[in-house]
Amino acid sequence: MTYSLENGLLDELIEKHRPLCQQGSLPSYIPALTNPQQHLAGISIIDIKGSRYNSGDYLLPFTIQSISKIITLTMAILDQGEDFVFSRVGAEPTEDKFNSILPLEISSAYPPNPMINAGAIVVTSLINGKTSQEKMDRILNFTRKLANNPEISVNEEVFISERRTGNKNISLAYYLKDANVLLGEVEDVLDTYFRHCSISLTASDLANIALVYSQDGKSLTGEQLIPPMVCRQVRTIMAMSGFYDESGRFARRVGIPAKSGVGGGILGVVPNRMGIGFYGPSLNTKGTSIVGFDVLEELIEKLDLSIY
Ligand code: GLU
Repeated sequence: MTYSLENGLLDELIEKHRPLCQQGSLPSYIPALTNPQQHLAGISIIDIKGSRYNSGDYLLPFTIQSISKIITLTMAILDQGEDFVFSRVGAEPTEDKFNSILPLEISSAYPPNPMINAGAIVVTSLINGKTSQEKMDRILNFTRKLANNPEISVNEEVFISERRTGNKNISLAYYLKDANVLLGEVEDVLDTYFRHCSISLTASDLANIALVYSQDGKSLTGEQLIPPMVCRQVRTIMAMSGFYDESGRFARRVGIPAKSGVGGGILGVVPNRMGIGFYGPSLNTKGTSIVGFDVLEELIEKLDLSIY
């Protein structure tokens, strides 16, 4: 049987997998993220011809969380060059949890990849800007450009919540500073890191951002927002470590470059075909949207979109 996005496939998948949300949970380590209702689920897709397909809660705002790590990695490469960035952070997958300090203990504080929190905190420190405010303005403006949405802003409640309770991230940053891996002032870097994790957007915005990465840095209007080689680097890192210690499982079962966030978002890139944005706040034990994982698995399989 041949499936297509034209015949209600997205509605079918959302309704089929939505009940899975009962098996997941909300991330209680960020108190403000326990607000959303667990059953929410929505998906948005935009293909390279500009056709859009949506279903469910695709227009509800949520915080980008770790999906911002692909945006900051892109900016750090543009600001400092690929060689410099990958001299401060590795490009290898890890089997440790997203906020683990373990890999730092065995590598002189050199984070194995830019998607785990330690690596992302180092990447944030590499972004140009005289102050944390200037860095954050640049990150927000770049995010708005990628999403083609000038309204995107920071959710202050989530930012304050993370800033107050993000003790693991705070200790990672001090550990990195002590080992001379982190550039700049620790508290400034943390401010920028927690703020970019608190950027608020929708699944539809995520799909627009994903589309840019799927067409080698070009926006839908044809503007070259990211050089093709930088896009390829970031897509590769997503494919290798976008789902932390379940990146292998995601590659095997879904098979596209993608990035998860504990806000419930997933950004998926189908090279030269489409950008996908998903929102479903109930998470599995690895911090991935539990509904999103299964919806994407069935979608990619039915449309035969795996890159492998
Ligand atoms: N802001 C979250 C943290 O630093 C992001 C984690 C995630 O989305 O995976 O813990």
